[in-house]
Amino acid sequence: MLDKKALIKKTLNYVKEYKYIGRYRAEKIIYNMERSNGENTYLTENLVPYINKSGVVLSFDDSFRVKHWYQYGKEIFGFYDVKATFNINAFHPFENNRMHTQEEIDMLLELQSNGHEIVHHGYKHRNAFQYSKNFGVNKWIEDDIIPLLDWMENQSHSKTGNKFKKPISFAFPGSAYDKKLTSAIIPQYFKATRGHLRDNNLATFGETGFIPSICIDQNYFFELKNIKKAIKIAKNAGKNLVLMCHSILPDECNWDDFGWGKDSEIAGKYRISPRVLKEIINEVKGNDMEFYTLAEVSGAATFIDRNLEKSIRDILSCQNEWVMIKDLVSLRELDLSNKGISNLDGIQYFLELESIDLRGNNIEDYRLLEKLPKLKRILM
Ligand SMILES: [Zn+2]
Repeated sequence: MLDKKALIKKTLNYVKEYKYIGRYRAEKIIYNMERSNGENTYLTENLVPYINKSGVVLSFDDSFRVKHWYQYGKEIFGFYDVKATFNINAFHPFENNRMHTQEEIDMLLELQSNGHEIVHHGYKHRNAFQYSKNFGVNKWIEDDIIPLLDWMENQSHSKTGNKFKKPISFAFPGSAYDKKLTSAIIPQYFKATRGHLRDNNLATFGETGFIPSICIDQNYFFELKNIKKAIKIAKNAGKNLVLMCHSILPDECNWDDFGWGKDSEIAGKYRISPRVLKEIINEVKGNDMEFYTLAEVSGAATFIDRNLEKSIRDILSCQNEWVMIKDLVSLRELDLSNKGISNLDGIQYFLELESIDLRGNNIEDYRLLEKLPKLKRILM
């Protein structure tokens, strides 16, 4: 048995070694990104959010961490200000694989009603690569894709009655994937999938298919100075940067408070602190960049209110495909009177809108209209 001193030494060596690997890896990631500088085909004088204005996607995985997201993220992110993408499952691996409680579902739906995206990370968080190797791709879709789509469709908020939007993207659990898996689910089930590193690690607008990301969990040692470098590179290239991580928890945690036994500390290593998160937000805003959801980077608009979505689809004559943001930004007038609409989520994409008729609906919260710079005439 190791005595205490030897154990501490062993741990320190471990951290040192991983820091070293982390530093080497970070240099390589930045090198790959820098090669894309100068490819700024999207940059013009006129930068329009969602179309050609660079941004950052904050992507968080594993919904058993929802309390951490809610407790430490909700306030920092605000209302349709810093938008994040939360990739969910339906169960809690450290509490006997129980399904999510209504309280957890309510928290996820409240995050959604603050502008965040709630999307698919596998029903049981299966390793897609391994599972499909053992049982076939169809069985993986049957067991890990379809059940979560059905589960999400069947949940609603206990007070507001809001439902989950149909997820636009899928994040591969454990970043285990190949091209065959991506083409098995796109475009049939999703518009985009998020994996880990690839090529220059940047995402262009309107991308369908694989979107790369960079892990910024504390234990991955991609330090803040490198995150800042990556943000600058994305800005100069006129592209988007996807940053992925897991929990949001303070630098110092008392693991006994979590109630998951030894697993608390292991799961907690995959985290970013509110302090670092605030630094990233300041950096992105300081560079006049936007925060996008992964759906937005892929060019797709989403709506909480199904009546609003139907009205927009009718106007665009778009029934079965994704509603594309590029088709919404140029509309000047919208007649949405008497459509049974109660939630305006999605209206923020109509950046050229000058006139809107909202009479005869049940809308209580009009705050999103403030996001429309050219709006002059509102009928309500
Ligand atoms: Zn995961």
